[in-house]
Amino acid sequence: MNLRGVGVSPGIGHGPSYVLTVSVPEPPEGATYTGEAEQEKERAMTALTRVAGELEARGNQAGGEAEEILKAQALMAEDPGLVVKVRTLIDRGLAAPRAVFEAFTKYRDVLAGSGGYLGERAADLGDIRDRVIALLYGQAIPALPSRPAEPYVLVARDLAPADTALLSREHVVAFVTEEGGPTSHTAIMARAMGVPAVVACPGATGIPPGVQVMVDGTSGDVRVEPAESDVADAVGAATARQAVLASWTGPGATADGHPVPLLANVGSPADLDAAVAAGAEGVGLYRTEFLFLDRAEPPSAEEQRQAYDAALEAFPGGKVVVRTLDAGADKPLAFLPAPTEPNPALGERGLRTFRKFPEVMDAQLGALAEVAGAGLQVMAPMVATAEEAAWFARECREKGLADVGVMIEVPAAALRARDLLARVNFVSIGTNDLSQYAFGADRQLGAVSTLHDPWQPALLDLVAMAAQAAARVGKPCGVCGEAAADPALACVLAGLGVTSLSMAPSALAAVRAGLAAHTLEQCRTAAGAARAQPSAADARAAARVHLPGLGRLGL
Ligand code: PEP
Ligand code: MG
Repeated sequence: MNLRGVGVSPGIGHGPSYVLTVSVPEPPEGATYTGEAEQEKERAMTALTRVAGELEARGNQAGGEAEEILKAQALMAEDPGLVVKVRTLIDRGLAAPRAVFEAFTKYRDVLAGSGGYLGERAADLGDIRDRVIALLYGQAIPALPSRPAEPYVLVARDLAPADTALLSREHVVAFVTEEGGPTSHTAIMARAMGVPAVVACPGATGIPPGVQVMVDGTSGDVRVEPAESDVADAVGAATARQAVLASWTGPGATADGHPVPLLANVGSPADLDAAVAAGAEGVGLYRTEFLFLDRAEPPSAEEQRQAYDAALEAFPGGKVVVRTLDAGADKPLAFLPAPTEPNPALGERGLRTFRKFPEVMDAQLGALAEVAGAGLQVMAPMVATAEEAAWFARECREKGLADVGVMIEVPAAALRARDLLARVNFVSIGTNDLSQYAFGADRQLGAVSTLHDPWQPALLDLVAMAAQAAARVGKPCGVCGEAAADPALACVLAGLGVTSLSMAPSALAAVRAGLAAHTLEQCRTAAGAARAQPSAADARAAARVHLPGLGRLGL
């Protein structure tokens, strides 16, 4: 069986498949909700319908016996008796996840007690229940083997940051997910771990557990039970290419010496070693929310201080850009209660959350102020207006943090970069969210992943606007979104006037080699050619014509 998805983290990974099934904790007994009962019922019904739809769709894809089973499961999810029970429990004051839990568990136990065919369906009911609850909670919590017999290829519908944060490179040789796009957190974490990954891969969760799988994170090919000789050939070619790339060392620069500092994206002190080993010149994005994803309590100032200090120590003389907590939407933090919103990505997230919880902000900025030195820069996520930039800069400077920046992640910020730059020392473009908001396409949704192609000319235009605004006032404008990790696009970004590039450490070697193989003029020409095109595919092809060194490097 061969599957095809979007390759988001390069390299070849192979091993037995581990297919992640959903397992969620029991919602607290007596959990209640705030707001209207009707709204809560609506939430539950939407989740039930969505789970039923997904099961059915997976059945259609799988065909055969699996189709029948999945369709039967889909029917169970919308069983009228269960639906009435869930509604009644919500009317009695129970929150939707608890109501679903109680209604389904009761029916499951009745089925289990009846034995035979019906008894076997009890497990299905438990599975549906967990899927619905996971959906209501906004994420699935996987049960991964803590000590696998051998490293495995992790196959899942999708992976939330909290899931992947617990994974170790020793155990996982590749990721394959059905959902997720190039900027989803599965992709980001895979790159951070240096593990090959393919996302938006239809049919992935239909891969039988335990069979050998080979994942090509460059082409997006996923081969189930490949011939041994094919695995050996693919691994050999990838190793040879890696050796060529590793021969390029030193600070990032074009062939004619135009410096483009190459920095690392990190999410924990553990990532720092990989960043140093890969020759990063500093940290361009410290995703501090990743430090605290699994916390029920806000982290103490001391704990934070130590984490930031470790980054500064890893790069003496270099710069470290720490992003303040980017909570909400795709990165929910347990200790910051998320509002119930119909569209969390458009709601109180990023800087907006920070404004709402001043005590959390004070603790973080206070911890940063304690370690502040020459290399420390602080920036805020999800800034949309000059007023927000001014507010953040004031808060930082009052605490003694002098070098302040903002991320450009929403089109409004790119369009008015000039106004933002008047308030801060630098900007850094987050192309992942900038794509999400420019194209109105959820970055976590596989179905819209083509809109997240970072070669989309409209995205390049927004980057160009911000870079030009920064150049006019002589301030830095970096890129720290996943776009920077593509060696061809990195050249184009440099050509657009971006002053530094920050990426997962595993991407640094290829980007360094790609830049060093071209002059700034070639990069500018490639950027102009890309922007002149009407589509992402055309932009990519047009740029490559002017970047002949990439082919020679096997990139
Ligand atoms: C981005 O949005 O491009 C970015 C770098 O931030 P994150 O991926 O953490 O949202
Ligand atoms: Mg972002």
